[in-house]
Amino acid sequence: GGPSEAEKELQNVLSRIKHKIVVLSGKGGVGKSTVAANIAMSLAQAGKKVGLLDVDVHGPSIPRLLSLKGQQPGMNDNSIEPVPYARNLWVMSTGFLLPTDSDAVIWRGPVKIGVIRQFIQNVAWGDLDYLIVDCPPGTGDEPLTVMQLLSPSAKAVIVTTPHMLAVDDVRRSITFVGLVDAKVLGIVENMSGFVCPDCGKQHEIFNTGGGEKLALETGVPFLGRIPFDPELARAGDEGFDYSKVYPDSETSKAVARIIEPL
Ligand code: ADP
Repeated sequence: GGPSEAEKELQNVLSRIKHKIVVLSGKGGVGKSTVAANIAMSLAQAGKKVGLLDVDVHGPSIPRLLSLKGQQPGMNDNSIEPVPYARNLWVMSTGFLLPTDSDAVIWRGPVKIGVIRQFIQNVAWGDLDYLIVDCPPGTGDEPLTVMQLLSPSAKAVIVTTPHMLAVDDVRRSITFVGLVDAKVLGIVENMSGFVCPDCGKQHEIFNTGGGEKLALETGVPFLGRIPFDPELARAGDEGFDYSKVYPDSETSKAVARIIEPL
């Protein structure tokens, strides 16, 4: 027999999404979720229709980052309504399903895979220019499932920081993307330099240029650098003030350059 109903449903949803971008990192704490949220916001600000999907089952940070904690997606007969965040931007997160912060999620592989599939196939994403997917770090069940569901059109953005520019780490992510027949769009170097709020000058905290060097070594494009920005650090705890972060900070200019080739 041909493709199953579920497969047809998935392909139908995917056919309405022009670009599928999966944000990956080799390690945690490099700012992957922050970068994913900023890319999504920047694209939405540029007038694109964007879905932001957080599939980090064990530590979903998108609801906190976007001050959407406690939000519940709407449920219809057979689809889930993503949570509207700003003009052109809709969000779905495993965090919306967890009643409290301390709910330890003990879902095993097959359950996680089922939930992630639902988050793509059964969410009423509609017509999108971009679906940005924030995955947990590494190359486990979640990134693998996402890449497989979105293949062959998934493209990856790999986030690293200057001090974590272990070539091996990023290389592992690149190998992973290759194994699932997807393409790496490029590398983003996050927490790269610090723009002093007093003097306005950029200070380098860690070594710089590593991202470009790494890109050269691995043969994937270097998409750009995002500075260490106290506003982003604050947003990590309290959530973004969307109106303040955009449109004219150094960070948003940096992100705007990063989304250009996407
Ligand atoms: P990951 O998803 O890689 O685990 P997060 O996006 O949760 O990382 O970021 C880890 C921490 O670093 C958060 O507290 C976040 O606010 C902070 N952070 C991330 N990027 C920046 C940045 N460019 N400037 C300042 N703080 C940042």
